[in-house]
Amino acid sequence: MLKIYPKEKIRDIGFIAHIDAGKTTTTERVLFYTGITHKIGSVDEGTTVMDWMEQERERGVTITAAATTCFWTPTYRGEDPNYEHRINIIDTPGHIDFTAEVQRSLRVLDGAVVIFDGVAGVESQSETVWRQADKYSVPRICFINKMDRIGVDFKKAFKSIEERLTPNALAVNIPIGAESNFEGVIDLILMKAIYFEGVQGEIVVTKEIPSGLKSQAEEYRKTFIEKIIEHDEDALTEYLEKGKEPNADKTRAILRKATIEGKIIPVFCGSSFRNKGVQPLLDAIVEYLPSPVDLPPVQGVHPKTGETIIRSPRDEEPFAALVFKIASDPYVGTLTFFRVYSGVFKKGNYVLNASKSNQERIGRLLLMHSNRREELDEVRTGDIAATVGLKNTATGDTLCDPNNPIILEQIEFPEPVISIKVEPQTKADQEKLSLVLKKLSEEDPTFKIKTDAETSETIISGMGEFHLEILVDRMKREFNLNVQTGKPQVAYKETIKKKVESEGKYIRQSGGRGQYGHVWLRLEPLERGKGFEFVNIIKGGVIPQEYIPAVEKGVKEALEKGIIAGYPVSDVKVTLYDGSFHEVDSSDFAFKIAGSMAFQSGAKIADPALLEPIMKLEVVIPEKYLGDVTGDISSKRGSIENISDRGMIKVIEAKVPLAEMFGFATKLRSLTEGRGVFTMEFDHYQEVPYNIVQEIIGKISTNKNKSDKEYKE
Ligand code: GDP
Repeated sequence: MLKIYPKEKIRDIGFIAHIDAGKTTTTERVLFYTGITHKIGSVDEGTTVMDWMEQERERGVTITAAATTCFWTPTYRGEDPNYEHRINIIDTPGHIDFTAEVQRSLRVLDGAVVIFDGVAGVESQSETVWRQADKYSVPRICFINKMDRIGVDFKKAFKSIEERLTPNALAVNIPIGAESNFEGVIDLILMKAIYFEGVQGEIVVTKEIPSGLKSQAEEYRKTFIEKIIEHDEDALTEYLEKGKEPNADKTRAILRKATIEGKIIPVFCGSSFRNKGVQPLLDAIVEYLPSPVDLPPVQGVHPKTGETIIRSPRDEEPFAALVFKIASDPYVGTLTFFRVYSGVFKKGNYVLNASKSNQERIGRLLLMHSNRREELDEVRTGDIAATVGLKNTATGDTLCDPNNPIILEQIEFPEPVISIKVEPQTKADQEKLSLVLKKLSEEDPTFKIKTDAETSETIISGMGEFHLEILVDRMKREFNLNVQTGKPQVAYKETIKKKVESEGKYIRQSGGRGQYGHVWLRLEPLERGKGFEFVNIIKGGVIPQEYIPAVEKGVKEALEKGIIAGYPVSDVKVTLYDGSFHEVDSSDFAFKIAGSMAFQSGAKIADPALLEPIMKLEVVIPEKYLGDVTGDISSKRGSIENISDRGMIKVIEAKVPLAEMFGFATKLRSLTEGRGVFTMEFDHYQEVPYNIVQEIIGKISTNKNKSDKEYKE
């Protein structure tokens, strides 16, 4: 059985980075040095342990956040078992289209290691993820990787962190040499040189600082100590009055406190690929990142009363856990990953899924190591574990003690902005389709499914082209489901801009049993992003209470149908305020139709508008292409918000409608001879200009008339 680690000796952490900065390689080395894997996998050969999903191997990017457990004792503590820590690593994806994955992992981890490419320094995605980590107040340490690469510059990379991300960055170790002469690191706390020997850098050797680097190291050390002592009054006094520096343990203690409070971001360096600098990073994870008990208690609400409940991270509290990942494992089936925020849960007992109000028995608890699973009898506060076979549980749900229900704060996900049609290839595929889509959408809350009411086509939507591509790929590989896909389409929305009142009457009274539904609705615009609100203010039984839900249902169906171009209507409030009924002929059906009719006719005169997703775009290019690229962005109805310098290159920040961005990758490549890169993420919905609305409506009707073959061209 798993040894129970005191909470102070648990770290729930993740590695986050811009794509290609070396997250996978670093994780691999971490797993190797902690003794879990015995052969270092290589991303380039496609044999990594964390990337267990097949297409991830092929693409060489990490997409799914799986959790892995390993154990570590800081190197300078020798073999002392009292210092052994348990590290739970939550793997986070680097690609921006996987926002949901990044956010949900940030939500459940206590600390993060941010990895940078030593040549590129801060890149656009590291900045986006950094801001997200700020949002969840995640304490961080930085790792400047690839110190062996040609053109690497520690000072410059460090400066880019300081200037673009945080003024609180503080170098804790510095490199010995660079590029092919990168040999090891200087630890500014111990003031020693550290080298990594043995076949795979597994032997950590401490030596004196090489004489040529002494004065540089002393300079860094001075800045280091001066920054450290600012955070501890005793140390400050000792230093100012007696010129005495805190000893190593005291320094680490101050640094730990300041890091957890976000006042210092310690920076380390190394080359994961060359097996240098990873062990000091592991030491730092243990030493400076928080344990579950270092963080404030979590807040939740009672599912029935809505009252706020606070849970401290203690085993004595009732059990509460948050589901952050559902994954299909080829061997055990559906795995539900969760993080325990309070209490203890023993296998064989029932949990309440407070978000769905259903109870389920948990028969198996698993701890996931990168290459094996371990059966557990119980899970405790701070643990990250998985269970098998939970039904109806989705990402973001709270699992808790049935006698002490709580819903932990929900994770907010952005709405999908892009959609494609999927068409099953055979009858067998047709039968499988809805089941597979349901499964995938349970795993990924930014993946949505819809059936087009008119054409009965299945439309899937997500956060970007890459996101949907991966999902379609998974349908093929994991479920053997073959679908043809259409061209990616922008997920437009519709809304109204004027307040109106509208009548809906569905009355059929000739022969047999009649139909009678009659309503008056008030339609009014809501603020952008507010969705839909239905209010009933019927008094005195003008319409009996039993028919009200049918009216709401009718309105909701009409919302889905759209007003101008068939896109779902949003940001509207509908108030049911009058109507009439018939003792015999009224029915749910009649009121549903009446509600739908009232909404449809009302919306048409309520100044309807089409909304389109506007993306935040960042383009990084050498200066000489600036004119061409800004010109291209402007021609795409884009607005340039900022142009800044990053060394020799220019960074353009802009807002551009998604509809104009298809094919931008190719265009940028040709404009910049392949030297420009860009990232894009959803920002907000905005009204489409009038002339473009006409174009879109035109396109929709021609598309609907085209045969599928043509449509796919
Ligand atoms: P990820 O996308 O952040 O997971 O990055 P990977 O770990 O997949 O690394 C991206 C590429 O950089 C791969 O080709 C790695 O071999 C390479 N790489 C990773 N770490 C280093 C390093 O320390 N030095 C050098 N030169 N290359 C590295």
